Amino acid sequence: MTTPANRARLILSLRSAGITDISVLSAVERVPRELFVPEPFRDQSYEDTALPIGYGQTLSQPYIVAFMVASLELNKTLKVLEIGTGSGYHCSVLSYLCRRVYTVERHRPLLANAEQKFSELQLHNISTRAGDGMKGWPEQAPFDRISVSAASSEIPQNLLEQLAIGGIMILPVSGVDRKQVLKKISRTDSGFETQDLIEVRFVPLLPGLARDKSA
Ligand code: SAH
Repeated sequence: MTTPANRARLILSLRSAGITDISVLSAVERVPRELFVPEPFRDQSYEDTALPIGYGQTLSQPYIVAFMVASLELNKTLKVLEIGTGSGYHCSVLSYLCRRVYTVERHRPLLANAEQKFSELQLHNISTRAGDGMKGWPEQAPFDRISVSAASSEIPQNLLEQLAIGGIMILPVSGVDRKQVLKKISRTDSGFETQDLIEVRFVPLLPGLARDKSA
């Protein structure tokens, strides 16, 4: 169910799972997850689980969203690129913690849904684009932070190029054994530093704009 008590319980469970950053917890608390969950699954909105959003895609588990957002070390001066808008849930959490989010989604109908939620929630610091996020958003680069919500076997070169010096990118990378690891890439004056964070499971990062029947 979608009562405030359930939302509070989710925040407590994120805390006990190790998410301690108060600004991240309060951003998660401000976003009504039920708004992003399709009707048949709405009673599971505050369970710490991934949920289907249509087009074969999923809304990530709240713990993973909170973990990724916390790993980005955000503040209100930063410009963030998000790849894989999906339902728009993760993007909404990001929007409370940075200056502006530029979000790219390859399924137009998902993006249209997400845009509607952003306006319902009066989130005015989000720019959206239907397209291939592997290409990034060159016109708006560089980005202080990049957050990718779909897994690839290689780190897209365009995204590395569009990361500002001093910037951080968080993305899932799939290995030969199909296991995925969430990586944190920091760009320094002299290059890139990579750190493995946790094992994860994301949908694949796919090239090009999707051809959806209803688009
Ligand atoms: N962050 C989302 C989770 C979305 S799942 C949420 O909170 O709901 C990952 C999303 O990445 C899917 O919607 C999928 O369509 C999208 N995606 C996969 N490859 C992509 C690409 N190359 N460019 C843009 N979006 C992509």
